[in-house]
Amino acid sequence: MERILVSACLMGRKVRYDGAAKTSGDALLATWRQEGRLVPFCPEVEGGLPVPRPAAEIESGAGGAAVLAGAARVLTAGGEDVTPAFLAGAQAALAVARSFGVKVAVLKEGSPSCGVLTLYDGTFRGRRLPGRGVTAALLELHGIAVFGEDRIAEAGVRLREIEDAGGTAEPGGR
Ligand code: SF4
Repeated sequence: MERILVSACLMGRKVRYDGAAKTSGDALLATWRQEGRLVPFCPEVEGGLPVPRPAAEIESGAGGAAVLAGAARVLTAGGEDVTPAFLAGAQAALAVARSFGVKVAVLKEGSPSCGVLTLYDGTFRGRRLPGRGVTAALLELHGIAVFGEDRIAEAGVRLREIEDAGGTAEPGGR
């Protein structure tokens, strides 16, 4: 059975920067949970950050790939550089994903760690830009298909493709 890495906050865990969860009511996610497929994970907490914690954004509208390359930092609104914790969390997520043979991940949009299609632009003014978070970028770099929480049906299609191919389908993501 294929396992799926999922942002812990989508599963009701109160791990977000503000101490809240972002519980998903998606039926497919609930089915996967019942089947025991889900591997909930919070990269920021596992990277050593507390709950609650200051909100953080990737500077200058850059994406997670730039952070992985050392070309951009993750900063709080107060200017604290929290890049090392974000990188550690991303590496921990990858290690857990590999340990379960994960090929598909469902992640929380907009997060500087988990965002798949959108991020905040680094100004802390609530403006979004296209881009992947640090963990999403690292997982994708290692062949794991990443989907935001509003694209769980697409994640399901990919999962079926992988299972139909005996777990060997070419990964991808969006
Ligand atoms: Fe949720 Fe990811 Fe943020 Fe953790 S790092 S609270 S799992 S969006």
